[in-house]
Amino acid sequence: MSKVAVVTGGTRGIGEAISLALKDMGFAVAANYAGNDAKAQAFSEKTGIASFKWDVGDHQACLDGCAQVVEALGPIDVVVNNAGITRDGVLAKMSFDDWNEVMRINLGGCFNMAKATFGGMRERGWGRFVNIGSINGQAGQYGQVNYAAAKSGIHGFTKALAQEGAKYGVTVNAIAPGYIDTDMVAAVPPAVLEKIVAKIPVGRLGHADEIARGVAFFCSEDGGFVTGSTLSINGGQHMY
Ligand code: NDP
Repeated sequence: MSKVAVVTGGTRGIGEAISLALKDMGFAVAANYAGNDAKAQAFSEKTGIASFKWDVGDHQACLDGCAQVVEALGPIDVVVNNAGITRDGVLAKMSFDDWNEVMRINLGGCFNMAKATFGGMRERGWGRFVNIGSINGQAGQYGQVNYAAAKSGIHGFTKALAQEGAKYGVTVNAIAPGYIDTDMVAAVPPAVLEKIVAKIPVGRLGHADEIARGVAFFCSEDGGFVTGSTLSINGGQHMY
């Protein structure tokens, strides 16, 4: 029977590419999403990948959503914590709600998904977590104290959970993407984006597929000795 993979935010953008890459590897994939039903339905019809709606920032919703996946596809072997949002603004203009919402979804989502699935992976002696961090969690970014803190937190979460999974065949790794051509980046004003691209040594935005290939490696048998690591995929924009 196929191993089962859940990709949060798996119906569009980077998550869509990850869902497709894992399907190509032979996983039975469940693509989670938050609220864009039309996109999720079109994605499922096009790819044959089942989509499941829940808010990863809601603890109980994660437990219930994962239980639905288990019922539909079987025990969960792989979790890709990809769902994420931005609520940008300089500190002076950032509301407490903007801070909380980004922490709740981007970082809290990783905790919630791990609580729902990590124990089962440990018991079965095999599992893969891949957490999508960000270059802005490594280097910081003006106007993003909430997002940078949450993404930096993901990198710490990854290293800590990796230590808990190592003896049980469960690897936990992170990817820190640079700027990737998705809806999230399309929301950046063109003048700002031009300046960002000028700072990327390879001279272009990344493609979602280029992140998905990194995820595929971490989820493969070949990646079994790699845990607690962060792979930067950023066109050379940040080199440590
Ligand atoms: P998009 O905005 O294109 O897609 C986000 C996805 O996450 C959607 O499927 C969305 O669902 C889902 N989502 C959002 N909130 C929730 C929630 N509360 N519960 C469940 N699902 C949710 O993002 P990207 O593809 O650009 O980014 C994917 C990840 O990569 C994010 O974590 C982002 O921070 C990170 N990243 C992106 C970079 C980039 O340049 N694009 C750079 C570095 C990191 P729905 O369709 O229903 O709204």
